[in-house]
This record gives sequence, structure tokens and C-alpha cells, in this order.
Amino acid sequence: MMSDLGAYLLAMLTAKAPPAELGMGGIKGLSQAEKAGALGMGNLDLLSYGIGRYKLLGEENEKQPVIRLIVSYHTSKWQIKEYKRMSAAACALSEIVENGIHKTCSGTGRYQGKKCIGCSGTGRREWSDYYIASCIGVDQRTYKNRWKRKYIELVNSLREHEEKAKSHMVRFYSSRDY
Ligand SMILES: [Zn+2]
Repeated sequence: MMSDLGAYLLAMLTAKAPPAELGMGGIKGLSQAEKAGALGMGNLDLLSYGIGRYKLLGEENEKQPVIRLIVSYHTSKWQIKEYKRMSAAACALSEIVENGIHKTCSGTGRYQGKKCIGCSGTGRREWSDYYIASCIGVDQRTYKNRWKRKYIELVNSLREHEEKAKSHMVRFYSSRDY
């Protein structure tokens, strides 16, 4: 059973722009340093840690280190020019950070009582092939034939890292006494 604080923290982390303070009835406000400290506890992998600092805590200066990690873990093996490996990593990171809401279903993933077809039930507005291809710097046909499958795997993997960072923080705070 998740504690009230854990549930509240999860809601905060899921919000697009997390409030600076967690100042809710009886819950001690948490500083940026404390939140960063929670991410640094235990054995969270480096990429999840970086995504946590950049996306969940809004630390802009973590962006480039995270992109470099994504390149070394994922896109370094893509048979594509060096700078395009970097663009692909940056593009995938932007996609999870922006994380737009699918308008048809208002982000619920369901439409008229059924799974929403437009977003396959994810509730997210997926980026178009055209947009991603130009973001990486390849033509649309090359993207579809060679990189689309890998790119989608990459975005899904980054989302898993983000979930890891979230649950890591929630676990840490839930185990503390307030
Ligand atoms: Zn939808």
C-alpha cells in the first residue's frame, strides 16, 4: 500500500511542471537538494538518475550529460553519421520530456468507451514520422525503413528509465518519517 506522501509525490512527479515545494498539510517541504538526494540514494542506474534530474527535477544543465549517456547506451551502434546519433538521442529525450497529451482522448487513452485508436491507448500524442525524421536529420523513407523501430524502442526505454526514477523517489520518501 502506497503511503499518502508516496501517492502525493507521484502526482507531483507526473505533473508537467512540479511545484518547487511539497508543502501539503503536515508534509514537510522538500528542497531541490533533498529531491536530488533521493535520486542519488541506493543503486539507481546512471541514465535513470540523469533523466530524473533533468525531467523530474527540471535541471536544465543535466540535458547534455543525459544526451551523451543515451548516445553511449543506445544510438552509438546505429549505422548513421555521428552527429545524427546525437540528434536521434536528443530527439527521443525531447519526446519524453514534452510528453504531449493526445487531444482526442484528453490523455485518458480511452475514447467513447473503447481504447483510443489515435494513440493506441497511451494517452500521449506521439510524434509523427515526418517530425521525427526531420528531428534526426534523415528523410522520411530512410527513417521508416531503417530507424523507426529502433527509435520507438529507444523512446520506450527512456520512458522506463523515467518510471524507475519516479518509483525510486517515491520509495525513498515513503520510507521516511514525517
Ligand atoms: Zn488518445
